[in-house]
Amino acid sequence: MTKTPTAHVFSDAIQRLDRAFEYAQIDEEAVEKLRHPKAILQVSIPVRMDDGSLRVFEGIRVRHDDTRGPTKGGIRYHPDVSLDEVKALAFWMTSKCAVVGIPYGGAKGGIIVQPKELSRLELERLSRGFIRQIADFIGPDTDIPAPDVYTNAMVMGWMMDEYSKIRRQHTPAVITGKPIPLGGSLGRDDATGRGGYYCIKELEKRRGWTPSEVRVAVQGFGNVGQSVAQLLHADGYRVVAVSDSRGGIYRPEGFDVPSLIRTKNEARELRAVYCHGSLCEAVEAATVTNEELLELDCDLLVPAALENQITAENVDRIRAPFIVEMANGPTTSRADAALAERGVIVVPDILANAGGVTVSYFEWTQNRQGYYWSVDEVHRRLHEIMAREFTAVYDFAAEHAIDLRTAAYAHALNRIGTAIEAQGTQRFFVNDR
Ligand code: NAD
Repeated sequence: MTKTPTAHVFSDAIQRLDRAFEYAQIDEEAVEKLRHPKAILQVSIPVRMDDGSLRVFEGIRVRHDDTRGPTKGGIRYHPDVSLDEVKALAFWMTSKCAVVGIPYGGAKGGIIVQPKELSRLELERLSRGFIRQIADFIGPDTDIPAPDVYTNAMVMGWMMDEYSKIRRQHTPAVITGKPIPLGGSLGRDDATGRGGYYCIKELEKRRGWTPSEVRVAVQGFGNVGQSVAQLLHADGYRVVAVSDSRGGIYRPEGFDVPSLIRTKNEARELRAVYCHGSLCEAVEAATVTNEELLELDCDLLVPAALENQITAENVDRIRAPFIVEMANGPTTSRADAALAERGVIVVPDILANAGGVTVSYFEWTQNRQGYYWSVDEVHRRLHEIMAREFTAVYDFAAEHAIDLRTAAYAHALNRIGTAIEAQGTQRFFVNDR
C-alpha cells in the first residue's frame, strides 16, 4: 500500500465544519474555536535499547477542545505519525464525543516509531518514557489517553502504572483500554467494532437487508477490523475480503472469519488458511493489494486501517454503495463530495467508530466509582447509545436532505456549540444592558 499522505489532514478535516455549520443552530464563534487546538505538547523520549545504545523518539500529544469535559483520545505508534495528523485525530475525537453525547472533549497522541522493530522490553521503556514526559499534561480530569494503531491493552497497563508511580497514587482512570485485571472494562476490547456493527444493524433495518446477501470488504485486520468482521460474520454477513498492512485476500463466497483471526494472530500473517488444532487447510482465495480491496465489487466497504484511503484519485473506482468508516479519516473531503454526488451512503467515522470511546467512557466511569459492570451491561448501554445517536444523525440527514457526515458534524456542532454559548458569545456580551 502507498504511504499515507498526512501533510494536510488537519486542514482537510476542519473543512467539514464549514458545511456542517450551515445546518447547525449555533453561533459562528463555536466553529472558530474548534479550528484551533487548545494545547500541543511535543516531547523527546530517550530510550536505552537492548544493545545498550540510546535512541531518542519523538512524541506528540494534542488536546483539541475541552469545552464539554476532559479531553480523550488514543495514542498511536506509527512511523508516519506527524503533528498535522495528531491534530486531525484530536479534532475528530472532539467531534466524535459530541456525536455520541459523552462528556469529553478530544485529544490524541502519537510516537514516531516502527513498533515492529522494537523488542517487548524496548516497547515498555518507550511507553513508560512517553508517560514520564507528558504526565503533567494528562490526568483523569484533564486528558485521558487510550489505545490506537499499534498500541494495545498491555501498553495502556504500563502507562497507567507509570502514571500511578509518578503521582504516588493508584490512578486507573488516567487511561482507558487497560487489561481487565488492571481496571479495564469488560467489553472494551471489541467496543469499536461492536459500535460499528450496531450502526450496520441500524442501516440494515432501514434498508431491509438480508445479511447473507451483503458482501463485505474490510481493510485493516487489527483490533477494529477483526471485531467488526467477526460480529458481521456471526450475524450471517458474507465477509468476502480482508487485508492488513501487507495486502489482502478475496473470496467471493465469503470467509470463515474466526479461522482467519486465529491464523492471523498465531502466525502473525493474514492467510486464507483454516486450522483446527494442528490440522491446517488452505482455502481458495485471490490475493489483492490494499488498493484493489477498496475497489472490489462488494456491497459494504469497511475501511478499518488508516486515514486517506479513499481519495480523489481512486474514488471513481470505488464500487461499494455503502461505506462504514471504522478507521479515522479514511475518506478525504474531495472524495467525500464525489461519493455523495454518486449517492454512496457513508456512515462517517465520527459516528461509526465511536463505540470505542463510548466504552472507554464506561471504563473511566467504573474506575471512578470503583464498581464494575457485567459485559451484558456494557453491551446494553453501548447499544442504546449507538442506536439512539445513529437514529438522530440519520433523521437529521433525511430532514435536511444531506449526507450522513454533514448531519453527524451538525449534530456534534449543536452539542459543542450550545456548551460554548453557555459561557457567552459576542451576542451575549455586547447586549450587556
Ligand atoms: P490496530 O493496530 O489493531 O490495526 C491496524 C490494522 O491496520 C492492522 O491490521 C494493520 O496491519 C493495518 N494497517 C497498518 N498500516 C496499514 C496500511 N498502510 N494499509 C492497510 N492496512 C494497514 O489498530 P486499530 O485499533 O484496529 O485501529 C484501526 C483504525 O481504527 C485506526 O484508524 C484507528 O484510529 C481507528 N480507531 C480505533 C479505535 C480503537 O478502539 N482501537 C477506536 C476508534 C478508531
